This record gives sequence, structure tokens and C-alpha cells, in this order.
Amino acid sequence: MKKLWAPWRMEYIRESIIENNEGCIFCLGKEVDKDRERLILHRGERAFVMMNKFPYNNGHMLIAPYRHIADFNDLTDEESLEMQRLLGRCITAVKATMHPQGFNIG
Ligand SMILES: [Zn+2]
Repeated sequence: MKKLWAPWRMEYIRESIIENNEGCIFCLGKEVDKDRERLILHRGERAFVMMNKFPYNNGHMLIAPYRHIADFNDLTDEESLEMQRLLGRCITAVKATMHPQGFNIG
């Protein structure tokens, strides 16, 4: 079995978590003018899509609800549905631009 190793993530661990403690990346606020800088690709009604600054692999995106919840089962039906639809749009975009052999969705 091969190990997944993304050494560029060490910068994230060292600078973002240990040294800067920058705060919550999921608190977007209303400042849409900073979305590009913050790697926000899309703001939906109940959830949003952002790129991972320190990805495990090319095309790594995050789909998250605006609400901060710790348990997947705490999602409302509306949040779950919107996140599924956003996932479909992300898959379509990655297929069109990167032509991957598959997807790792988790
Ligand atoms: Zn937050």
C-alpha cells in the first residue's frame, strides 16, 4: 500500500496552526470582495465551496455549511441537499478542466 504524502502541507501546519493561529477559515462574513483571496469559489444559500490552500491533491475543494456543526448528522435536509448539488457542480467542473480518472469524495 502506498502512503499519501503531501509535504507542502507542513507549511500549513507550521505557519497557520502553530505560529499564527489565524482563526476560523469557515467564518466567511459578508466581505465578498475578499473571496478570491480566501479561495472561496461559490457562496450558496446554506453552504459554500472553497479551494484548499494546502491540498492533498490537485482539485481539492471543500464544501461546507455556513453553520458550524460538529456532526454530519446535524445537517438539515436543506443543507444536505444543497451540499450534494454543490458537489455535483464541483465534479462537473473538475471533469471538464482536469479530466481525472476518478474522485475521492469524503
Ligand atoms: Zn468559524
